[in-house]
Amino acid sequence: MGTGSVVALSGGIGGVKLALGFQGICAPGALTVVVNTGDDFEHLGLAISPDVDTTLYTLAGLANPQLGWGRDGETWNFMAELERLGGESWFRLGDKDLAVHVERTRRLAKGEPLSEIIGDFARRLGLAARVLPMSNDPVRTIVETAAGTLSFQHYFVRERCEPAVATIRFEGAPDARATPAALQALERQDLAAIVICPSNPYLSVDPILAIPGWRSALQSSGAPVIAVSPLIGGEAVKGPTAKIMRELKLEVSPLTVARHYAGIIGGFVLDEADAALASRLDVPVHVAPTLMRTRADKERLAREVLDFASALHGRSIRPHGGSGRGES
Ligand code: GDP
Repeated sequence: MGTGSVVALSGGIGGVKLALGFQGICAPGALTVVVNTGDDFEHLGLAISPDVDTTLYTLAGLANPQLGWGRDGETWNFMAELERLGGESWFRLGDKDLAVHVERTRRLAKGEPLSEIIGDFARRLGLAARVLPMSNDPVRTIVETAAGTLSFQHYFVRERCEPAVATIRFEGAPDARATPAALQALERQDLAAIVICPSNPYLSVDPILAIPGWRSALQSSGAPVIAVSPLIGGEAVKGPTAKIMRELKLEVSPLTVARHYAGIIGGFVLDEADAALASRLDVPVHVAPTLMRTRADKERLAREVLDFASALHGRSIRPHGGSGRGES
């Protein structure tokens, strides 16, 4: 039997680590990464898709390892001149990154769907995986905070996640359609697993699940849907997941995350630091080291997720032994 295909649902930085692991072990074309676009926004007249671009750059091996966002080997001439002219500078746009936004904006203005533009960028950047936005329709994450109503990037970047979160909503999601090409990936005969990557459940995965077409497609898929815990030892590795959970008066525990995905997931990957919680989950659990520092960590976790999926599915999946791409 050949390589099983994988559909990974992801936000940006945290989730794409596991997507990189899957890209390393899956045959070319076997991995489809469906990316949150709830934090897309229009800025300086440009259409910006931060999670999609983080995914493209990371899977292409072009991400900036120091910053954790943006491009490696970036220059900042545009930003420096913009600041000199008194322009808005809270959202940093490097010169190489800027080219992506300009070209995306131009093609969107001509009426091309976002998924085709991103698919084309992925090919041109030499990705082995397919990267697709969750929807071609606009969905916007809005955060109600102690400091008022904030669009996602104002909350996340400008305010550095400091205001306490009261509620999060996804404007446009009820009417948004799931990206057709991404839904087709769920129908592949060789689909081995649908994986909810360790992204922020409330900011990065919920926008995807808020689209009715995604929720029902996941619920009706024959392949196992597996979530990997974004919490290790009761804390987030990075980012505001734990802070938001406390503000939403939720127990900061992988149990809360697994319950949040109830009705969608058929299995949950718990970090070994939280192994004691396994018996309290009401879905099948696989315990594994989930901290992904190196490329080897990412590929090992990706393999474990596929083995777990295979056990749940009751059939054998043989991951491709390829060398993979991208950074560690
Ligand atoms: P995004 O939601 O994918 O855009 O990325 P963030 O950087 O905001 O991180 C989201 C979640 O990923 C956080 O809850 C982190 O704890 C989690 N995360 C980041 N790195 C890792 C990792 O190596 N292993 C696990 N299990 N979770 C991680």
